[in-house]
Amino acid sequence: MPVFDVLIVGGGHAGAQAAIALRQRGFAGSIAIVGDEPLPPYERPPLSKDYLASDKPFERILIRPATFWAEQAIALLTGRLVTTVDADARTVTTADGVTLGYGTLVWATGGAARRLSCGGADLGGVHGIRNRADVDRLQTELPDATQIVVIGGGYIGLEAAAVLRKFGKQVCLIEAQDRVLARVAGVDLSRFVEDMHRQQGVAIRLDTQVACVEGATRATGVRLSDGEAIPADLVIVGIGIVPAVEPLLAAGAAGGNGVRVDAACRTTLPHIFAIGDCALHANRFAGGAEIRVESVQNATDQAAVAARAIMGEDAAYDAVPWFWSNQYDLKLQTVGLSSGHDRAILRGDPASGKFSIVYLRDGRVVALDCANNVKDYVAGRRLVADGVIASVEQLADPAVPLKTIAA
Ligand code: NAP
Repeated sequence: MPVFDVLIVGGGHAGAQAAIALRQRGFAGSIAIVGDEPLPPYERPPLSKDYLASDKPFERILIRPATFWAEQAIALLTGRLVTTVDADARTVTTADGVTLGYGTLVWATGGAARRLSCGGADLGGVHGIRNRADVDRLQTELPDATQIVVIGGGYIGLEAAAVLRKFGKQVCLIEAQDRVLARVAGVDLSRFVEDMHRQQGVAIRLDTQVACVEGATRATGVRLSDGEAIPADLVIVGIGIVPAVEPLLAAGAAGGNGVRVDAACRTTLPHIFAIGDCALHANRFAGGAEIRVESVQNATDQAAVAARAIMGEDAAYDAVPWFWSNQYDLKLQTVGLSSGHDRAILRGDPASGKFSIVYLRDGRVVALDCANNVKDYVAGRRLVADGVIASVEQLADPAVPLKTIAA
């Protein structure tokens, strides 16, 4: 049985960065990354942007060049899905029956795209966007499609809609909530993004439930719960992720919607860390609530924390969350977590395309959404990190640079 000093399960951003961070810090032991995709680690954010738009080839979204891993003596065990963990024996077993031993296990599995639970979810022409194979399949069908229904108004659905409009497709986007980006942004930003997509020709249906996807073998349309049918040659589903933590929970780790970790990313099982989208942690920027943060930033920062802890250093995760999205000409940057805010302050005029929204909780700056406004984003990071209390008048005045408030 192969045994590794550090075995990383999950070959996404978090897993790759954990291996990289260990080597950067001089870790000399053996490291392996076991992942279910048959590919070296690559960046997921471009999948719904440049890669879908065919603006970047796969080689340009690799996290490191393909030769890097062997050079760094990091074994890549690709195409293997870990299905069980034995925390006492310190082993994992893959779906194809291979058992691997570990000194320390790093669980970095992220999540799987949530699937529609209604009829027709498995028909041909219904696609998710979570990994390269999803997008490659979608791309082979795109040239023959004219009408596309996008289900879900989160980042995936909106970014995909923007690319599809660039390709000249007719797009109808269906969102269950009463606004897009409901999970991650405040109302004003949701309305701005909605308007932008409508101006670009996307039909947006809010507060709308899907009854089923229609078709015999391939999707021909989407039936809504009110009976209306929307014709479609393709259906793209972006309705969130389900954290991939079953094997770890079955092994006895605490958790539920994710696997619970402490500040050093340790799970409740000995010698097992968890990082990235699947790690449920108490987050200072969420007022101490236990949350999962689904972002590259979180994956990278938790990977660094786990690497330090594995090497016996003191390490605690306390990073300011940030996110970004590109849609048409919009460069959206978000810092902090706006959920639970009690006041939202608009800086600048959305009609100009450049503005920010500053979110306060109990008078403190907890988050900013910055539309085409890099300066506010950079200074905003300080405001959020320090939980600055600032006057509403100053925050609302775009003539007052945020960096003067941060200082
Ligand atoms: P998401 O951000 O969770 O958004 C999915 C949206 O779809 C939610 O508003 C959800 O509403 C809605 N929804 C759920 N079920 C639905 C249904 N049956 N019909 C219509 N709407 C439904 O997830 P996502 O956009 O799929 O993204 C997946 C992951 O990739 C996330 O972690 C996301 O952060 C990440 N991602 C990030 C970026 C970026 O940062 N730029 C880009 C792409 C992807 P409920 O909340 O009611 O379920």
